[in-house]
Amino acid sequence: MSATSAAVARWRVAEGKPTSPPVLFVIDDDTGVMTALRDDLSRRFGRDFRVVAESSAAAGLAVLRGLADEHARVALLIVDHGLSGMAGVDFLARAHAMHPLAKRVLLVERDYSADSPVVRAMTLGQADYHLTKPWMLEQDLYREISEFLADWATDQQAGFELFHVIGRLQDRGTHQLRELLARFNEPFRFYDADSEQGRRLLQGKGLDASRLPVVIRHDGYTMVGPTPTQIIEATGGTVSSDVDECDVVIVGAGPAGLTAAVYAASEGLQTVVLEETVSGGQAGNSPMIRNYPGFAHGVSGHDLTRRACEQAWMFGAHMVFSQPVVGLECQATERVVYLADGHRIAARAIIVATGIAWRRLGVARLEALVGAGVFYGAAGSETRAMEGRDVHVVGAGNSAGQTALHLARYARQVTMLVRRDSLAQTMSDYLIREIEATGNITVRLHTEVRDGHGDDHLEALTLYDKLDDQSEQVPTAALFVLIGGEPLTQWLPDTVQLKWGYILTGRDVVRDGSHPSRWPLDRAPLPLETSVPGVFAVGDARYRSIKRVASAVGDGATAVRLVHEYLCTEDATEAGRNLQVLHRHCTSSPHQPAH
Ligand SMILES: Cc1cc2nc3c(=O)[nH]c(=O)nc-3n(C[C@H](O)[C@H](O)[C@H](O)COP(=O)(O)OP(=O)(O)OC[C@H]3O[C@@H](n4cnc5c(N)ncnc54)[C@H](O)[C@@H]3O)c2cc1C
Repeated sequence: MSATSAAVARWRVAEGKPTSPPVLFVIDDDTGVMTALRDDLSRRFGRDFRVVAESSAAAGLAVLRGLADEHARVALLIVDHGLSGMAGVDFLARAHAMHPLAKRVLLVERDYSADSPVVRAMTLGQADYHLTKPWMLEQDLYREISEFLADWATDQQAGFELFHVIGRLQDRGTHQLRELLARFNEPFRFYDADSEQGRRLLQGKGLDASRLPVVIRHDGYTMVGPTPTQIIEATGGTVSSDVDECDVVIVGAGPAGLTAAVYAASEGLQTVVLEETVSGGQAGNSPMIRNYPGFAHGVSGHDLTRRACEQAWMFGAHMVFSQPVVGLECQATERVVYLADGHRIAARAIIVATGIAWRRLGVARLEALVGAGVFYGAAGSETRAMEGRDVHVVGAGNSAGQTALHLARYARQVTMLVRRDSLAQTMSDYLIREIEATGNITVRLHTEVRDGHGDDHLEALTLYDKLDDQSEQVPTAALFVLIGGEPLTQWLPDTVQLKWGYILTGRDVVRDGSHPSRWPLDRAPLPLETSVPGVFAVGDARYRSIKRVASAVGDGATAVRLVHEYLCTEDATEAGRNLQVLHRHCTSSPHQPAH
């Protein structure tokens, strides 16, 4: 049974009643193509899905209306671009309005020109995927359809629930917990403490709603108001390091740190990765990355980083979560990092990959409502809760644009609040066009957020229009803040040269600068090396970095090559000799599942 079939089957069981199978809908007015596709899909997916095929736009819309009336679940809408009488994207739009949870697939002729209709449809967010016809091999078709269905199944939140979370939607602790579980990719279901099921679950454990959130694991293990560390431990993650000496310590498990871990561990370096929260970094919060090479339909940042994390673990990297690094010391022959729990780890080289944190709005009442209607960074676990509501997004960069587009799939109205008088200086052109083409996104230019209202959750915002010099109070269900970030480098000693908080590396290191951060050696620093020999910086925390996933990944891979080079230099030899001896004595402990 495929993963998708299993997810569908479990979904049915979880619902407790047999439901009619979800629908794969196909429309092409070339009856030969329509029949071939219907037959191919039925052969492979017919056991779990109902394949419905039509050859005219009018008949297709009528069938879809009927399916909506009977509350059938449509998983895929596969629509030929060249339907006669109606453009494929228009048909998709009407079909999607009836079945908003279906994934939209545009069927196109082979045409790899920039004018291909699918290029425009993907850019404007009118389709989720494309299929080319004729398909040469059934296997290729099945692989692609399976991927689309896997995404659909994920959206349905189908499958096994590892945790039941009982809490209140507007409660900050509950929000943080859901956020953590979502980032850790742990399947869970949320129950409001005041709902019948929520009350029943609490009673079953002899608890009431006086201390929330409560988390019940599938095997009955129950945690009341758990800390992030307890949650990570309950999922099998490692939260402390049993290695005291190693070849490389990597601080931060975003794309840069994870890539460095994959390369370092795969090249035989004993590697420890220390992460303050869980792996993924900012990218782990990004719902859809469309510019990462190799993913024509985009990739969820969460999926991408989860895979990198698993890969690093498979190569033998020690992944340690919920473990912030609070200090770095460079002794004569070793580099030492200090952990928040008081432990120290010595390494021959350190790679700093701590990224950036989102800049705060600085409005006291909004800060007090963080997690209770005010969210920093992209919409993650709370996206679905925005269904049918009016929400606001502050910011004018690509991340703000992507978040607005993602929210627009669920919210009734998304308003972007932008201080400048245009998006053009700060946002990629493709995103601007996609936003313009999305009916339920409004962009309010020269507008500042001045205040927030609501006792225990956000209810309204005071917005100030700089052009009119007017303030206005507007109701809102949520505010998503994406206004840039600050590098997470405060924990570094002042021997590490910084500029505006970002870490200087390579040629930027000031070699004749004043004490204490003067470059100490005769040789020049290596390209990603900081002002401390043997300490490297990668990704967003590095001065002049590009602030993209692919560049962070590139940095991470490059840094490992440079670590090898550093370890061959004379200044590292002594440290290496000492640590290699210790290294041989390190007992290799069984690794925990990494995320
Ligand atoms: C919403 C959103 C959408 C985005 N969309 C795109 C996109 O479409 N395309 C694109 O190319 N880029 C995108 N980006 C930017 C991209 O995600 C970043 O450039 C990339 O994640 C940077 O990777 P990094 O590893 O350098 O840092 P980060 O991803 O910031 O990871 C740093 C990690 O270090 C950890 N850490 C920090 N301090 C410590 C410490 N003291 N001890 C231990 N661990 C620590 C953090 O918890 C974090 O996990 C987006 C960013 C956001 C927020």
